[in-house]
Amino acid sequence: MIVYNTLTRRKEELRTVHPGEVRMYSCGPTVYSRAHMGNMRAYIFMDTLRRVVLFDGYKLLGVMNITDVGHLTSDADEGEDKMQKAAEKTGKSPWEIAEHFTKLFFRDTDKLNIGRPEIVAKATDHIGDMLEFVEALVEKGYGYETSDGIYFDISKFPSYGKLSGNTRLSDNIAGARVDVNDEKRNPADFALWKKAPKEHIMQWDSPWGRSYPGWHIECSAMSRKYLGDTFDIHTGGVDHIPIHHENEIAQSEALLGHPAVNYWMHVEFMQVDGRKMSKSLGNTYTLDQLEEMGYSPMDFRYFCLNTHYRKKLNFTFAGMDAAKTAYSRLLALLAACKNSDAETDPKIISDFDKAFSDAVNDDLNIPLGLGELWTLLKNPPSRAIYDAAMRADKVLGLSLDKCADKKEDDVPPEVREIAETRFAAKKAKNWAESDALREKLASLGWAVLDSKDGYTLKKNK
Ligand code: AMP
Ligand code: ZN
Repeated sequence: MIVYNTLTRRKEELRTVHPGEVRMYSCGPTVYSRAHMGNMRAYIFMDTLRRVVLFDGYKLLGVMNITDVGHLTSDADEGEDKMQKAAEKTGKSPWEIAEHFTKLFFRDTDKLNIGRPEIVAKATDHIGDMLEFVEALVEKGYGYETSDGIYFDISKFPSYGKLSGNTRLSDNIAGARVDVNDEKRNPADFALWKKAPKEHIMQWDSPWGRSYPGWHIECSAMSRKYLGDTFDIHTGGVDHIPIHHENEIAQSEALLGHPAVNYWMHVEFMQVDGRKMSKSLGNTYTLDQLEEMGYSPMDFRYFCLNTHYRKKLNFTFAGMDAAKTAYSRLLALLAACKNSDAETDPKIISDFDKAFSDAVNDDLNIPLGLGELWTLLKNPPSRAIYDAAMRADKVLGLSLDKCADKKEDDVPPEVREIAETRFAAKKAKNWAESDALREKLASLGWAVLDSKDGYTLKKNK
């Protein structure tokens, strides 16, 4: 398996620490609000990586954290605490808020066929592990106390910045710009541990009084606990490269005296109009919203898989419609294969198996793998093609076996014609005609679900 390593900036053959086993850590969600589809792109990437590892026959030990304390301000852990704010706004406790959004997160990931890592670790369950880590760093001289917390002294870690190649840190690190703490030795020093003001709801005892962990220490402490002092792969979004992962590297290597992670893998952004989809920009969509518009979770998964994880992906409804149509067609073609008695030359099938496996093993080139599947489907339908697609679906995770249940493709031509006329009327803002045609469709047993740029038909049960 070949993977692109952000640290070395090139593709490398994956060589695991433990033969036949991959151990990987993925930065998980912060759970003070609802995860959006940009986040979901990151977890579809994580899931695809997991699937390729399993497809190749490795044993897999995956860990993902749930950030229910820390990282609740900015990436630099400065500014106002969003969990605290959400608690004040809703009158709920931070624990209730975290539980609520964690549940929703897993509801979404389940719908998107995102497999759960073997270990899902909540930050608040690991306060002791983090505290030990910070105490050891202080003992070794990497951490120092200020009036508001314990900070990591980056001048003691000369290779700071090696992941991002960002060596002039004092110029551009986020923490430096908003720096209000003149007790820090270097502008880019970051908080390992924070002293809690009285009103801060989440706080624990520590040698430095009532306090709570910084965000970065969570991932260093939990990855070490579950995966050991050196493990294979660490994943996250590209936004984590310059601060969060740089800080994780500093903490872990300072403590261990050697690198903890062999391969760093990062997924590019999902964008909207050229800007990152993010909570702070207010340009997010949730899975519920997409479903209300008539898109299925698999339409979204297909949309993501069709672009390589290291390329930016612009979220558009035209793109979602194209994905929906392609996915629907894929299911229709496979439905025809499932019950076919025809045969396909075994060489065509084995060539496909090889081409697909080569593609996905080449730094997760899923778009190429999908292309191979489409090429295979140009052959006359056969059960052997269906079976090959099911093997590929172990990596794709597109529920291709559901093809037989796909109803949208059975739309009779006369129903389609009425729906098209209605869509044209709606586009022309001819509401009376469009409503009348919607009723006509309903009387024939069909419901129309409108989206921004199209519609889908659903048969009423
Ligand atoms: P957060 O909950 O903000 O810490 O984000 C969870 C994961 O989603 C991280 O790995 C982020 O890098 C990733 N992420 C956030 N926004 C996007 C986006 N627009 N596109 C892709 N990944 C994202
Ligand atoms: Zn992390």
